[in-house]
Amino acid sequence: MSKIVSIFMGGILFLFLLSILIVGIGHNDIEKDINIDKIDKFIIKPNNISFDSNNGGGPIIKVYISKDKKVVEMFLEEYVRGVVAGEMPAEFSLEALKAQAVAARTYALSHMSKYGNQKCNKGEGADICDTVHCQVYMSKDVRLNSWPSKTKGELWNKITEAVLGTEGQVLTYNDKLVLSPYYFSTSSGRTESAIDIFNVDVPYLKGVQSKGEEISPSFKSTKKITYSELVKKLNASYPKAGLTTSKVKNQIKILSSYEGGSVNNIKIGNLTISGVKFRNVLGLGSDNFTLGFDSKNISIVCKGYGHSVGMSQWGANVMGNSGKLYKDILTHYYDGVKVEVMKY
Ligand SMILES: [Zn+2]
Repeated sequence: MSKIVSIFMGGILFLFLLSILIVGIGHNDIEKDINIDKIDKFIIKPNNISFDSNNGGGPIIKVYISKDKKVVEMFLEEYVRGVVAGEMPAEFSLEALKAQAVAARTYALSHMSKYGNQKCNKGEGADICDTVHCQVYMSKDVRLNSWPSKTKGELWNKITEAVLGTEGQVLTYNDKLVLSPYYFSTSSGRTESAIDIFNVDVPYLKGVQSKGEEISPSFKSTKKITYSELVKKLNASYPKAGLTTSKVKNQIKILSSYEGGSVNNIKIGNLTISGVKFRNVLGLGSDNFTLGFDSKNISIVCKGYGHSVGMSQWGANVMGNSGKLYKDILTHYYDGVKVEVMKY
């Protein structure tokens, strides 16, 4: 072989090897990308998931973080995970956690300007705040630090599973987004209708049976208040009631209650107020209460915890533990709703 031919052949061989190398690298790159996609979707551990634009994050929500007094933008699904973490014990059944995720997502969208536009007024420019005023939101770090290190990974995974398993799902009524997916801790054994408690008739917020909630630590609570303290508190809010420490025992009487047991009207001296107002002034667990009197104190025995309207979280857990699915739970507590995937 002549020197020129040899250089020529060498050049061809070089180009050939180079092309294999280039094509090869390109090909591997594509394959790698596809594989990463598959890994992300199918075998990533929930604990490692972070909801973002590549990973089903959904639209951006502006959350007012009250502790820091600032508005933080985050992906909706990330926010929903923080609400499930903040609003429901992770030890609850997975189906109850899923029901909570759907209710929380619906509530979030009902506050965002593009969807329900029922903005929270706590933080300037925010859609929603991170307290019980709207929904309690807890960041991953805060939540993990509050759990024992032995179980925290497992509990966080369970919450993530509930959010992933209901990704984008919301409650609708007559093909429209539900705007008031209210929920609360524990019922008395029956929830109440929105018309009775909030004076607004919401078709999907009707009182329903909610069995098995006696296991909740908040099912029953007793508040003992001295007569002088009671008079001080009630007179401060209702000066026209004219209550006096010596007579208050005979000045307070429950006049009527709703089907679930929540007090409708209560007489306080010269006035009649709602059970909701009586609860708020005295900081009671619920407005479902009975009164007991002794020589010095009033004992107020409350059944349930929270406002009693919509989904009972403990009731949801009882249903989940008895084999019901999250859709069964949601359609039990929210009359006539559908669970549908939101098109953002
Ligand atoms: Zn708020």
